Amino acid sequence: MKVQEQQLKLLLQEVDTSKIVIATKYTDIIGINTLESYGIHLFGENRVQDFLHKYALYHGHGEFHFIGTLQCNKVKYIIDKVSLIHSVDHYALIDEIDKQAQKHQIVMNILIQINIAQEQTKHGFKENEIDDVVAYVEGKKHIKGVGLMMMAPNIEAEDTRIYFRKMKEWLQHIQRTYPEWVHLSMGMSNDYPVALEEGATYIRVGRKVFE
Ligand SMILES: *Cc1c(COP(=O)(O)O)cnc(C)c1O
Repeated sequence: MKVQEQQLKLLLQEVDTSKIVIATKYTDIIGINTLESYGIHLFGENRVQDFLHKYALYHGHGEFHFIGTLQCNKVKYIIDKVSLIHSVDHYALIDEIDKQAQKHQIVMNILIQINIAQEQTKHGFKENEIDDVVAYVEGKKHIKGVGLMMMAPNIEAEDTRIYFRKMKEWLQHIQRTYPEWVHLSMGMSNDYPVALEEGATYIRVGRKVFE
């Protein structure tokens, strides 16, 4: 899909570019280059194959984040190409990211995905698993945990506020032990203004800026 430039300009007036991750699953390398020409520098990709095609054609100065469901056997393809993985949702994936990062002699930044609304259809750790998974991440040499991510339920933006707020409370809880956990990736096209009010540091916006 083509970039909806008017909508993009409006978004840029409202939100600092350092907080905007555009979900680029809707577009190709031309779209990514257009976004970059407007000052966007964080691109969030969902599917490994699609991402690799675009990455091969990309010569800009931005960064790619991985935001979609990630299978362990695909980690090796993206480990040296993304600067942050938002969607870390099970232990085996943590192990695999650590292993692949070690091979490349890097430290990979990750967010832990939380299934905050306890939806059957959504990925992510449960709230009662948060302390254990954070401690587990902290034990990995080649991973740096920097925050939490959530996918909101498909409800009215205002009804999502309680979940955004819970995420903020969990982050503050983690920060008492690990102050370097600073990011909250939450809010999409329909609810990002509420997410920002509740402390989102990354919003992941797609549909709003594509035709
Ligand atoms: C597509 C996608 C988004 C963006 O959603 P929109 O509703 O298009 O803004 C955010 N996060 C993830 C993980 C996505 O796959």
